[in-house]
Amino acid sequence: MGPSSFGRHPGWASTDGGDDNRHTMGTDSGMQILRLGDRGPAVADVRAALRSLGLLGGEKGTAAATAVDGPLDTIPLRTSPLETDPVNRTALDTAPLETAEFDSATELAVRHFQQVRGLSVDGRVGEETYRALNEARWSLGDRLLRYDPERPTRGDDVINLQDRLHELGYDAGPVDGVFGPETEVGLRTFQRDYGLTSDGTCGPATLRALRQLGRKVTGGRPQLLRQSASFVESGPHLIGRRIVVDPGHGGDEPGFTAGETTEADLVFDLASRIEGRLAAAGATVYLTRGRHQNPSPDERTAFANDARADLFISLHLDAHTSEHARGVASYYYGTGSGASSTVGEQFANLARREVIARTGMLDLGSHAKTWDLLRMTRMPAVRLDCGYLSHPVDRLLLLDARVRSAVAHAVLAAVQRLFLPAEADPPTGTFTLPDLV
Ligand SMILES: [Zn+2]
Repeated sequence: MGPSSFGRHPGWASTDGGDDNRHTMGTDSGMQILRLGDRGPAVADVRAALRSLGLLGGEKGTAAATAVDGPLDTIPLRTSPLETDPVNRTALDTAPLETAEFDSATELAVRHFQQVRGLSVDGRVGEETYRALNEARWSLGDRLLRYDPERPTRGDDVINLQDRLHELGYDAGPVDGVFGPETEVGLRTFQRDYGLTSDGTCGPATLRALRQLGRKVTGGRPQLLRQSASFVESGPHLIGRRIVVDPGHGGDEPGFTAGETTEADLVFDLASRIEGRLAAAGATVYLTRGRHQNPSPDERTAFANDARADLFISLHLDAHTSEHARGVASYYYGTGSGASSTVGEQFANLARREVIARTGMLDLGSHAKTWDLLRMTRMPAVRLDCGYLSHPVDRLLLLDARVRSAVAHAVLAAVQRLFLPAEADPPTGTFTLPDLV
């Protein structure tokens, strides 16, 4: 669902304004911080936002808060989804919301949200978290998007637009959720190529074209190459290392699915991002499959052996019938009784720790396994299970391109730590999410 009166409540700064938010992160210039036990309309706004993001169930609040908050979701906020503006929307300002409570369920949902967005996780809503909540509520199609130098438009709909342009091969600048001049250039070029009015405005016709052409999950090549190019200037090189990255599943075997999202698509996206990062750092990288192929386990291990790889990294996601299962696990070849691959074990630990440090996902440890994929490969081989598609928070993380980029960065860091001398070894999780976007 889309935004409500967010950004409109007295005492809250307007959150889609033209100030450069990036440099004010962590400050709470005069804004009241909402925390456990607080009540009032601002709390109702926050709860509505969390609910619209699927992070807060209506049944989990206190009776009073539920009764007050409940109807918010049903208020028709607009008739035309493309002609709304959160600054001018006042529908909720007069609602009797004084008793909405910042209860423990709200706090937990805020923590989840902060984790997903790479914010400081403190369970309180200050300016930074509030702004992020506001941005997260926009879906592509909720409003017209165009470049406004005075007040750049921010939101997840902009991220979605930038992602789609990248996946179609257009350079729309960094995928940062801010509609800047590069986004406009990318959009105009796309519009021209597809016979649309090249006005730099993302309206209904452009949206239709993007939706018809867009894939669900993307590798974002131009973006990825630029990020890699900047890294190769600053980071150590892996020249001469041959690394095989194995995205699990593929073709008619999608693995776990969550709605339209498949494990096969997501791990292929991750593998492509890892490939770009490693290649930029000088490594020779091979993927075991294309986007739509599904080689057998034998073919995958034979491929890695034929490539004389120094390292084999297999990527999967998990799912479980318990909605509580979540986190990151890694596997290396071993029987658990001493006959294990020490380099594999070392890399399994490095990769897992780097991913945990950069995404905040739960640490499920590294484990010795005798699976053929690990046994038949003649080089150190590791399987990384990078979160649970069945868990709401893990899923949100994995659907965020910034988080997938962070995972790719984590794997690069782990490879560097494995192959480079100790003095070049950066501490785990040196780079955090905000650094990447
Ligand atoms: Zn799998």
